[in-house]
Amino acid sequence: MKAVLASHNKHKIAELQTLLRKYVPDIEILSLEDVGLFGEIVEDGATFEENAIIKARFAAQSGYIGIGDDSGLCVEALGGAPGIYSARYGGEDTNDEKNNAKLISELGKEPNRAAKFVCTIACVFPNTKKPLVAAGETYGEILVNPRGEGGFGYDPLFWVDELGKTYAELTPDEKNLVSHRAKATEKLGNLLKLREMFI
Ligand code: IMP
Repeated sequence: MKAVLASHNKHKIAELQTLLRKYVPDIEILSLEDVGLFGEIVEDGATFEENAIIKARFAAQSGYIGIGDDSGLCVEALGGAPGIYSARYGGEDTNDEKNNAKLISELGKEPNRAAKFVCTIACVFPNTKKPLVAAGETYGEILVNPRGEGGFGYDPLFWVDELGKTYAELTPDEKNLVSHRAKATEKLGNLLKLREMFI
């Protein structure tokens, strides 16, 4: 079974293929480049789900199954921000450091530090209109000072109480056991496996 992930990132492609093969052993994940899709994807959805579906539909133009994912950090005291704007939170020419600095300053001395990482993955089949959607969430708290050197994005600020560590203090294998992305991928894998059994 071939599917196209709406991404040019080879690391993401390989990671998704490894994770999904636990459920669908013959799945082969291709990149947009592999199928000659180079246009810009306009991510103008209002939710993680809408954006994931927009990306999946773009990838499905290839004629293969299209997969799209969207993820971000939602902070309770900030009304769910940065949410779908997580990547661009620090402005136009932002980076992880600027995004984290903005998050620390926006939260200030706010005592409610509750936050969650969300990942939504959508899968669009060329012959059907209705997408399969799977979401994963991991709950934590936003620290005042960053901790840990691993990971990316908001990882050094995201404290997971049950682990006693930030995401940035986990090894990649440890993060893959608990992350929002791992949970969403597991759900998608099970949905694909079920679909294979009945079609
Ligand atoms: P995307 O859905 O891969 O484009 O991710 C959107 C943004 O959410 C990233 O640029 C990060 O800022 C943030 N993000 C998503 N997943 C993670 C994670 O696992 N750790 C830290 N930041 C993340």
